Amino acid sequence: MIRAILIAVTLSTFCADRKAEPANPAMLTIQLTAARKELHLQADRPIVFDHGRKQLPPGAYTVEVSGARPARQRFRLFSKTFPPSETQNAKQYAAQWKGQGYEAEILPFGRAWKLDSGATADNRNLWISVACLPTLEKAKALKAALEKQKTWAWIVPDTAEQGNGKLHFKDARGKELLKVEAPFLFQSDAPIRVSDVDIGFWKDQKKARAYRGTLEIRVGPDAAKQALLELYEHIDLESYLAGVLPAEMPTGWPPEALKAQAVAARSDVAAALGGKHTLEGFDFCGGEHCRAYGGDGGRQKSTDDAVAATRGLVLVAEGRVVPAVFSANCGGWTENNDTVWSSPPNGTLRGVPDFAAKKNPATKGPEAYGMAKWLKGAPQAFCAGDQAHFRWVKRFTAKELSDSVNKRYPVGQVRSIELGERGVSGRLKWVKVIGTQKTQVIRKDLDIRLAFGGLNSAMFMVEAQGRTDARKASAPGNPDSFTFTGGGRGHGVGLCQDGARGMADAGMRYQDILKHYFAVATLARLP
Ligand SMILES: [Zn+2]
Ligand SMILES: [Zn+2]
Repeated sequence: MIRAILIAVTLSTFCADRKAEPANPAMLTIQLTAARKELHLQADRPIVFDHGRKQLPPGAYTVEVSGARPARQRFRLFSKTFPPSETQNAKQYAAQWKGQGYEAEILPFGRAWKLDSGATADNRNLWISVACLPTLEKAKALKAALEKQKTWAWIVPDTAEQGNGKLHFKDARGKELLKVEAPFLFQSDAPIRVSDVDIGFWKDQKKARAYRGTLEIRVGPDAAKQALLELYEHIDLESYLAGVLPAEMPTGWPPEALKAQAVAARSDVAAALGGKHTLEGFDFCGGEHCRAYGGDGGRQKSTDDAVAATRGLVLVAEGRVVPAVFSANCGGWTENNDTVWSSPPNGTLRGVPDFAAKKNPATKGPEAYGMAKWLKGAPQAFCAGDQAHFRWVKRFTAKELSDSVNKRYPVGQVRSIELGERGVSGRLKWVKVIGTQKTQVIRKDLDIRLAFGGLNSAMFMVEAQGRTDARKASAPGNPDSFTFTGGGRGHGVGLCQDGARGMADAGMRYQDILKHYFAVATLARLP
């Protein structure tokens, strides 16, 4: 039955030329901005290039491209990943797709890290590419067709051929001082400032940023009307972390909390390296899609110190570097990864109480304790110090709530909301919205939060005010408002940032903080 779809999209073998590229694990390539018609650079010291043999004077430059041939992109559909230990299963799975006529391929992603101890942390995964299509539209069509048959797949761009063209560096008066071929690498003794850098992948935010690493301008794919320029930074892992940390945790927080965050961030980077952007020729983008990266300009002494004090340290469990995720405030109990995302359970990302278990009345969990008491009372927790995030209330008029829900689900006017099963932290796994036109079940953390106007978290209860009997839906005077009472901010998986701060304030060390949130993991050092 999958075969029927195959004919409609016409697969070709032009993806067979993909080969693994050797990578230097100490150096990362970060995409700072893409799809630009021009780039604006400001250098306080000479711009040096051609292996230090040539240079441009300091100043403001506008870079444009002429005679460009865009990069050639294709789009792969992946349908599953396997750890290296399940190579045999991966082969069988790929063979099933091949049997249906698909050009299934097994591509290795991720890195195997040699640790200081001599052991290896193997974060490689085998991704099963089931199709490789010349346009995004075709990839989306196949993805949709597969989904109808309950086969889940995700699309990853794959750069088959780099673009090229002539780059023109013009000074502030428009005079051309340099004409070179792209891709073009350059650096400077002082950070180079770049205006209009993409910082919010999801929100299309742009901002001026400064970078100290080696910069590279490439000609990218023609995705946005001849806006082809892309800017990259080549930077070592520790410097990259120093540019990431200030965007993740307030730099004025206690040093032990910053150190815990540094180790978590380094683990997350090491676990993700060689992942989703690899086929496009870089490691991470600089925005929220991967993780916010502020470059050199955003660095602070406190976060630099936290990175230096934990140099190379990562969390390891079950022979792998832990993808040590974090959220702002867990609400008193952290959550299992599989409650929040559609990923298989990770033995290291299990929900834990965010308090010292002894003597705490809620020690059997929020549901056993009673959700109303948990959310409306003042339970003790390491993250209770940030009261605005630890417990919150959000009120909607019936119209406001219906408007919000109907942006995503056409249910009509919301009559009532039924709360489903909860995860260990009390976060809802699903809710049922009963509307005048439709009843809609909404699953998973982010979708639940977005349906109700972007709630702080999915740990909440709802009370309707006014006449709330759904059976009398046709009568006037249905609920006129809804009150959400909740706890926490963010998905709640992994490290709780407010909790880390609370523990640091209580005199605990970063090792204790990490042990608390990632109980089965141990600290190890990358060489
Ligand atoms: Zn990204
Ligand atoms: Zn917490």
